[in-house]
Amino acid sequence: MKIAVCEGDGIGHEVIPPAKEVLKHFLPDADYFDVFVGYDKWKETGESSSDSDIALFKSSDAILFGAITTPPVPEYKSVILRIRQELDLYANLRPVKGSIFGQDFDIMIVRENTEGLYSGIEEIGEERSTTLRVITKHGSERIAKMACTLSIERGHKMPLVIGNKANVLKSDVLFRDSCIKTAGLMGVKTKPMFIDALTFDVLMHPLSYDVIVTTNLFGDILSDACGYLTGGLGMLPSANIGEKNAFFEPVHGSAPDIAGQGIANPSAAIRSAAMMLDYFGMKKEAGIVEDAVIKVISSGVKTPDLGGKNSTKEAGEKILEYIKKID
Ligand code: ATP
Ligand code: MG
Repeated sequence: MKIAVCEGDGIGHEVIPPAKEVLKHFLPDADYFDVFVGYDKWKETGESSSDSDIALFKSSDAILFGAITTPPVPEYKSVILRIRQELDLYANLRPVKGSIFGQDFDIMIVRENTEGLYSGIEEIGEERSTTLRVITKHGSERIAKMACTLSIERGHKMPLVIGNKANVLKSDVLFRDSCIKTAGLMGVKTKPMFIDALTFDVLMHPLSYDVIVTTNLFGDILSDACGYLTGGLGMLPSANIGEKNAFFEPVHGSAPDIAGQGIANPSAAIRSAAMMLDYFGMKKEAGIVEDAVIKVISSGVKTPDLGGKNSTKEAGEKILEYIKKID
């Protein structure tokens, strides 16, 4: 197993080491190698990522990634966008977990990651600017397949919700219908919902949702909005999955305002490591990590973003201790 580890910038240096320790506990024999990309690299070398960095990422089975500062410099090239494109990481998975009225909700948002409004086809003018929204049958079917697989794995507790705006955007008719067709072939029930009403309803009734599949921009907004249901940015993990590679990173950025202070919440990064274990088929181990994060926080070990006084190091160590006790 080859695991690329990239801390990136800012708090990436603080939250990735404890997440790597968790991986090492379950995968002691994996080959871990560091890849240095990001803004710090750009300042040193003039490029944020080199061709050989990308080759290294491509050669890995999975990538554990911290966060990268995006500077307000026009010539700076986003590393994450480059990785997403060159490794064709077409599925962005964002679990949203928490509890409300004493009941647990567990939602998986599956966002198409390569097309839609983020296809990069734009015409910029003074009087008129256009961004083309590309939806393909191939792109819609492969993201639907991923969402259906997840729905089946999770016990298909509820219909697969298809977030769309097909009433206004004709391109979404193709997306919606491709999803319905794929789901039909896989024996998964579907429930198409308009994205605006859906966003409102998920926030109102999170217990009524299981897997939601949607297009690029809608998924971007929906998953951030759902962050409201959880304990904040420091808690949210994500995965970017392609045919050959997979990339796991916390939803938060490099948090320059708290970087270097040792107070960042490592939960999102550790949960991203749990998603990697899950991707490797280690469902039980992933469950143990998830459980450890929640139990340690509810025992009162909290970083300042959660209202506590613990450091990143203390939180990371307690979570690892708990894992070792259970495993
Ligand atoms: P970037 O340019 O890297 O995206 P950003 O300024 O957008 O950075 P984020 O990292 O997205 O910052 O964070 C937004 C806010 O949330 C900041 O105030 C940051 O301190 C806080 N935050 C983000 N991640 C964490 C974390 N893991 N623990 C504690 N606070 C966090
Ligand atoms: Mg940010």
